[in-house]
Amino acid sequence: MASCLMCQKRLPRTLTIREILSWRKVTADTICETCKAAFTVINESKACPQCGRNQANQEICQDCQRWHLMPNTLKIKNRGLFQYTPTMHDYMHQYKFNGDLRLAKVFQHAVQLAVDAAQVDVVIPVPVSDTTFDHRGFNQSAELLQLIVENRHHPVVCPALKVVTRDKQQQSKQGRKDRMTRTQPFVIDPNYVEKLRGNKILIFDDVYTTGRTLHFAAQALQTVEATSLIGLTLAR
Ligand SMILES: [Zn+2]
Ligand SMILES: [Zn+2]
Repeated sequence: MASCLMCQKRLPRTLTIREILSWRKVTADTICETCKAAFTVINESKACPQCGRNQANQEICQDCQRWHLMPNTLKIKNRGLFQYTPTMHDYMHQYKFNGDLRLAKVFQHAVQLAVDAAQVDVVIPVPVSDTTFDHRGFNQSAELLQLIVENRHHPVVCPALKVVTRDKQQQSKQGRKDRMTRTQPFVIDPNYVEKLRGNKILIFDDVYTTGRTLHFAAQALQTVEATSLIGLTLAR
């Protein structure tokens, strides 16, 4: 019998009569009801309209107001699906830092529904560096989009962004301050530039923390002349 991927408790699994009669493919639950209930969904009517942060009203939040004051930043709109609560923190830790790839399954369906609702042509996962990929073995954002990749042709999931590779020597020459005020970490894979032109693009990332990653990704994609560019993150 399967157990919850988060708390290891055994999962009950009883087929309903309807499932048996319809021969419908049964997708097994990956986490138990208690663990599911511990995540907090962000209600769009109570979120910052710009970054998707959970709040009491629908006004642009202070984080976003600060972004607006920065030169050359795009006002990219983001939807966050779940609050970054201690439960989400634990999930991310187990998924990313312990590298438990099975945990991608927990949110693939929710991500698929949100991508459908966004009605875009192309979904671009935020990339991870080669070093992170080698260490972790997967890109956490790309894995959350796997259900769309497997079942659909629309929208297209397209790995159009790459992390700029800076050699070790360059990195060690950077002072601490330089690393803090990071420069653009992404480039577009030249193979995708033409394919992206005139499309509605959604950038997908696992977590929106400061918004810096999403802003950099949007900036890197500026030259492709997308019809629209929005963000979606699992957590905010
Ligand atoms: Zn559980
Ligand atoms: Zn905001």
